[in-house]
Amino acid sequence: MKDQVCRYCGERFQLAPNKPGYVDECTDCLYEKTASETLRHKKFSEAVAEVNRIIEKVMKIHNMTREEVIASWRESLARENPTEPPN
Ligand SMILES: [Zn+2]
Repeated sequence: MKDQVCRYCGERFQLAPNKPGYVDECTDCLYEKTASETLRHKKFSEAVAEVNRIIEKVMKIHNMTREEVIASWRESLARENPTEPPN
């Protein structure tokens, strides 16, 4: 094993063989990065679940299919955020 300086925190650490991640990042920084990615992934999953709950609500209220709800959202989004500049 040899000493390596972490490129993120500048700490010296022992470079173990088969260490996960980059050779120049310590296990603490690797852990922090992985943890924040897990958190981001969790937030995204929660957002998707929230959108699904709203879709199901709208489906019930308006007696629409999932595809119809999504299509009408796309239409209103396109109206509010036109990709082409108005003439
Ligand atoms: Zn580090």
